[in-house]
Amino acid sequence: MSTGFLSVDLDALTANWRSLDAMTDVETCAVVKADGYGLGVAKVGRALMKAGVKRFFVAVPEEGAILRHAVGPNVEICIFAGHMRGDTDMIADMMLTPMINTIGQLTRHLEALPDHPFGVQLDTGMNRLGLEIDEWASIAEIALTQNCRLVMSHLACADTPDHPMNRKQLDQFHLMTDGINVPRSLAATGGILLGPEYHFDMTRPGIGLYGGAPFADALPVAYLDLPVIQVRDVEIGETVGYANAWTAQRPSKIATLSGGYADGLTRALSAGANLWHGAQPVPLVGRVSMDLITADVTDLPELPGVLSVLGLDQTVDELAARAGTIGYEILTSLGPRYERRYSGA
Ligand SMILES: *Cc1c(COP(=O)(O)O)cnc(C)c1O
Repeated sequence: MSTGFLSVDLDALTANWRSLDAMTDVETCAVVKADGYGLGVAKVGRALMKAGVKRFFVAVPEEGAILRHAVGPNVEICIFAGHMRGDTDMIADMMLTPMINTIGQLTRHLEALPDHPFGVQLDTGMNRLGLEIDEWASIAEIALTQNCRLVMSHLACADTPDHPMNRKQLDQFHLMTDGINVPRSLAATGGILLGPEYHFDMTRPGIGLYGGAPFADALPVAYLDLPVIQVRDVEIGETVGYANAWTAQRPSKIATLSGGYADGLTRALSAGANLWHGAQPVPLVGRVSMDLITADVTDLPELPGVLSVLGLDQTVDELAARAGTIGYEILTSLGPRYERRYSGA
């Protein structure tokens, strides 16, 4: 086997969902956009459905259609992008629930699919998606007397509990929605951890399900191992890889592994990251190239067949820190070349 392998622990995934669910008294949905945060939306969606998820969120209808084929007709699939021109047939045929973001989307939806369920996304300060307060005031009565399933907004700073923006958005959400008679949702993973004030009627965790910050107690879900293709001896003064970026300071053993930036191992990791052999770190040396990386295995007691990139000794967030990014980006960059293996559920 010459490709890396990505092992996905579906039992850890569903355990994370149960832990997040146990932190609130309300419905816990699941966000599975971007192919289930890179881990495979069909497997992830089915495992979560069996664990009890009744409502999923994805970014766009195309993702909703794939998820619908995997999970069947009995769960709700909500679309953050709302109802865009050209999406009506897919929304109808795949029984998708668009989160309406503009007055134009609401008009399109009610004209094209009058009885079809929808939700409304409100902007409470993030200025990304959703209706502003005056727009909402002008159409709330119409929207709320149609088949509106939920009203939601999204927090910009929920991973920073002390940030004053959280309270500001909470107050704005109350101002915009108090007294309405449809379910409300404000919290993603970070919002769940902010406490009950933020939970409303349903939560929408994503990253916490997949083992990422800010859910500190999450179990790791993704394990990535790369096979060693070749090991060579390198003398003092010899260089390794593109641009001669690394020079041996001692007689060294260098392993070349299958996996590179085309697989989501970003070139930024060239600045200094570790692979792992059990609990022993193995420094990456030289530049990450498209299909390959090189690591200094001189200090290992034996020559390894594989080295680990993600696992118990290096979490998604630890690897992300090495690359100057966030766990979300590490997960959603995991490439299609890896062989995916699923355990549990
Ligand atoms: C991605 C997303 C979520 C999930 O956020 P996490 O931080 O991954 O839990 C929830 N709501 C909206 C609107 C999103 O875009």
